[in-house]
Amino acid sequence: MDITLNWLPSETVFSFCSRYHIVFGHSVAHQTTQKLFQHHRLGSAHDFPARLSFLAARFDGRLGSAKDIALKHTILPFFLPLRTTEQALQSINSVCGTNNHHLKYRLGILSSNQGAAHPLKSCNSCIEEDERLYGVGYWHVHHQLPGSSYCRLHKQHLNIAKEKTFGFRKDQWILPRDSHYQKFTKENHSHNNELCNYQSFLEAYANYGASGGFLDPIAVSNTYQRKLLNRGYTSSKASKKLKSSPIINDFIIWCRFLDKLVYIEQLPTTVPAARNFLSRMIRPPRSGTHPLNHLLIISWLFDSWEHFYDEHCNPPHVGENSTHLHIPIRKNSSNNKKRDRVAELLATGISATRAATIAGVDTQSAIIWASEAGHTIHRRPKKLKPDIRNKALKMLTEGVEKDEIQQYCSISRCTIDRLIRSEQGIKKQWLDARFLKTRMSRRGQWKILHKQNPALTTTKLKLIEPGTYSWLYKNDREWLLQHNLRTNQGPTSNYISLPWDKRDIEYAGMVQKAALSLHQQNPKQAIARHELMRLIPEVARKIRWLNRLPLTEKAIGIVLKHRQKNSTTQLMAEDNLKK
Ligand SMILES: [Zn+2]
Repeated sequence: MDITLNWLPSETVFSFCSRYHIVFGHSVAHQTTQKLFQHHRLGSAHDFPARLSFLAARFDGRLGSAKDIALKHTILPFFLPLRTTEQALQSINSVCGTNNHHLKYRLGILSSNQGAAHPLKSCNSCIEEDERLYGVGYWHVHHQLPGSSYCRLHKQHLNIAKEKTFGFRKDQWILPRDSHYQKFTKENHSHNNELCNYQSFLEAYANYGASGGFLDPIAVSNTYQRKLLNRGYTSSKASKKLKSSPIINDFIIWCRFLDKLVYIEQLPTTVPAARNFLSRMIRPPRSGTHPLNHLLIISWLFDSWEHFYDEHCNPPHVGENSTHLHIPIRKNSSNNKKRDRVAELLATGISATRAATIAGVDTQSAIIWASEAGHTIHRRPKKLKPDIRNKALKMLTEGVEKDEIQQYCSISRCTIDRLIRSEQGIKKQWLDARFLKTRMSRRGQWKILHKQNPALTTTKLKLIEPGTYSWLYKNDREWLLQHNLRTNQGPTSNYISLPWDKRDIEYAGMVQKAALSLHQQNPKQAIARHELMRLIPEVARKIRWLNRLPLTEKAIGIVLKHRQKNSTTQLMAEDNLKK
């Protein structure tokens, strides 16, 4: 029976188990918990579950490995990029194994300023769309991220559920439609690009964690410093406290904007709080800073996650100490003129190095100014040997996953990303190759599903493999429609429902009539299957779907059973279906 459930796109493990609870009609929550996690309570947490290896084993690995589940279907990856690999592995093991006690403590969540409750969140339009597509509204991973308040797809705020926080229905399995929601207290901006952009930072950061990516905490802190420097902000050498009031004011404006619209526990909205916050974030990093604090500053300083990531991976080489805030770079009129000149030159399409020479500034300043002005700078890859480079490029054109390339070529994720950005057309080739691979795999899955369940309609098959169906429906609709037509599965959509019950009664009657007629023609002769089917071609055509026609199946069974006994006379006497 478990086969009927599979992941929905971007679904949390809590959501999956809640669907399981409802589908299998368990009356109390611990029945489901026990069945899925081999424990009456552990596993039911909505943010950091436990015992995922029991869940993975329960479904024979069909849901993926326990680690896959932890990385793709929980909010754990959001907390991993700034941890050491060892800490990340420990955290993953905690949710996969039998005990995740102290995980929130170890991740620094309990001691942070950003709360540890992680309330369940949902978007009204997503629920409606999911109900239309999959028959059920469910919890999406990216909506559950800390600080997440906005659905980018529908440009609307998320609702916050009361369940699972402060002990309310703590151990329950619950879906968005059955939840109680808090009163909406934030300003409702129905379409807000900045809010959408902020949400994209949260999602990109979590995706980066889910792909096994790590950030170097020192490089992160240096990246903030460089960016602030570039804006002309200075600090005292001794305290490294930010002196400039424009930076504080600018940051406060950003925090107040977010405070009106999103749910973040603590935002530095006063001058002392903002000054302390920024000073803390540009110091050599301490462990346990909540990711939301980083995202607050990243989303303020950078226009996209990619932009930040690029700066973090490729610091400009302008001297050993250049990244510290005590080196003042002041905006002055001479600099402004040079900056404008560099911008003009870059607009003509020449390289940053050439523009720097003509404008009489050093290359790194030109690169920073160009980046600030939104120009894409093509840097040369650092010492990537030609044979490795070619190998990596070949693998990219074949659509090989980055993780695999990383391992096979012994190069970093940054190098692969840089290669993709620097090589003309390689990104498209990689994406196209990956698309073809995914398409082949999805088509294969759908064909196997059809083969294994020839009698099921598309609507039912959709319930078994919702992910495959929705991928094909979105990306390969023509093939899906043609395949379903070829296999005579009826319409792809679920708008038309065949009246199987009515048909079943009709067919059963036809079987009995035909059997009676054959019996009357030759009372002593057993009825052969082919003779029976010859008389009822409509039923013969539906013979593959007999499991959907129970009365017909029973009637045929009785006729043929009596054929074996060679006692058709008795058959008619026993057969009470016609009465
Ligand atoms: Zn939505």
